[in-house]
Amino acid sequence: MAKRLPLKQRYAALTRDVHWDPTYVDPAKVFPYTSFEGIKIHDWSKWEDPFRLTVDAYHKYQAEKDKRLYAVLDGFAQSQGHLTLSDARYLNAMKLFLQGVTPLEYTAHRQFAFLARYLDGAGPRFAALCQSIDELRHAQTEIHTLAGYNRYYPGFHSWSKMHDRVWYLSVPKSFFDDAVSAGPFEFLIAISFSFEYLLTNLLFVPFMSGASFNGDLPSMTFGFSAQSDESRHMTLGLEAIKFLLEQDEANVPIIQEWIDKWFWRGYRLAGLVAAMMDYMLPRKVMSWKEAFELYFEEQMLGGLFPDLAFYGIEPPRHVAQAVEEKEIVSHQVYWVLYQFSFAAAFTTTVPEPEEMAWLSQQYPDTFDRYYAPLWERARAVQDGGGRFFFQGLPQLCQVCQIPMAFTEPGDPSTICQRHSEFRGERFDFCSDGCKWIFDREPEKYVQAWLPVHQIYQGNCGGPTVPEVLAWYGVGDGDNGEYAGSPEQRNWRLWHEPATVEG
Ligand code: FE
Ligand code: ZN
Repeated sequence: MAKRLPLKQRYAALTRDVHWDPTYVDPAKVFPYTSFEGIKIHDWSKWEDPFRLTVDAYHKYQAEKDKRLYAVLDGFAQSQGHLTLSDARYLNAMKLFLQGVTPLEYTAHRQFAFLARYLDGAGPRFAALCQSIDELRHAQTEIHTLAGYNRYYPGFHSWSKMHDRVWYLSVPKSFFDDAVSAGPFEFLIAISFSFEYLLTNLLFVPFMSGASFNGDLPSMTFGFSAQSDESRHMTLGLEAIKFLLEQDEANVPIIQEWIDKWFWRGYRLAGLVAAMMDYMLPRKVMSWKEAFELYFEEQMLGGLFPDLAFYGIEPPRHVAQAVEEKEIVSHQVYWVLYQFSFAAAFTTTVPEPEEMAWLSQQYPDTFDRYYAPLWERARAVQDGGGRFFFQGLPQLCQVCQIPMAFTEPGDPSTICQRHSEFRGERFDFCSDGCKWIFDREPEKYVQAWLPVHQIYQGNCGGPTVPEVLAWYGVGDGDNGEYAGSPEQRNWRLWHEPATVEG
């Protein structure tokens, strides 16, 4: 029998050596998508894949991780593990994850499969193939993990339909739709670099630590199982940007604009995570502000961007605004969710007194002054038997699609509104960042499917709230206020001490 090749050669033989250059078909017809964005590639073989994974090794690792995860899921289900969660309220964060993030994993799977076919270089094609399978696995393991909660809790049932229809889910959906409708290189900078490299720790670490702190062993386990893939994805993002920057100087300004655009889009999307961390987790991990300082300011602004300066790349255009907003963004986003949760597939409630104290301690310069008074008023309404819900439909930002609740730079008490004219129509934005993105590609963003406009146009089941909710797939008990909800009532019943018959 022939001797096994050394790892490096074996990897080359099983990946790059299966590539051939077409001779009787025009290469531009085989790979038609890698020229229109203006990116110049001179030598695809310069792409370095630090993992040197082969298909057989890849499947062996993944199968072992899956075996471990499914054992945990079985054990948790058989022992009624859901009763050891910190509180039923915690699961609202996981509903948001299942409705908002899991469908993005599936979309990522599809687009990386596309790259695995259409990138000219064998190295990046193979990396994209592995990531495509990873993302499919992430979607599946998340669905299986969270399906366990669907037996006992509302809000977990129609996530796929909801993702396509519900107003707040249009925020993550439109983000990814924007990326997959761009060219292949912009997609790599959008998802692999700006999302997976710059922001992934901010997005996933809080969710997974949140799961662990709140007794959600299954979600913690799928998180760890996805985390080792994530490190490969981050490396793909970093390799992609370095490769593109090194191939041709003319690529630098194109990539800079993509970083500027996708940092701001990703950061706006992360506003949902900020609200989740500071408000939706009964047991807090760290505040949004602390996470932002550690994972973004220290590691990215302090660590990565000084390295990229070597290529002429600067920190993202609107980054100073994001840094300033770390004091206010979670409060603004959760206040929106609180006011509109009658039309959501999760519930919200006023922070408990201990949470108010924690928020005040985490945000000494802003919470007591701007946000505590709102919550005190909301609590007074609830104590009086009412519930404050916003009556009416909000204006949405044309780009990020979040209701216009963000404030002017330097002034947390004035709503920020920007607008642009295009083809005789007016379009509104939440921030300078979103306006800048629109003005670069107005033809793209005028096509946005804005949930509020769709309701007004009669495309969402009808003109009344019950009709729209029915069209969304939101049922009784999925939405509204947590206090007094079916999930809270059940939770209390399940935790009442058994009474002894005398
Ligand atoms: Fe993923
Ligand atoms: Zn916006």
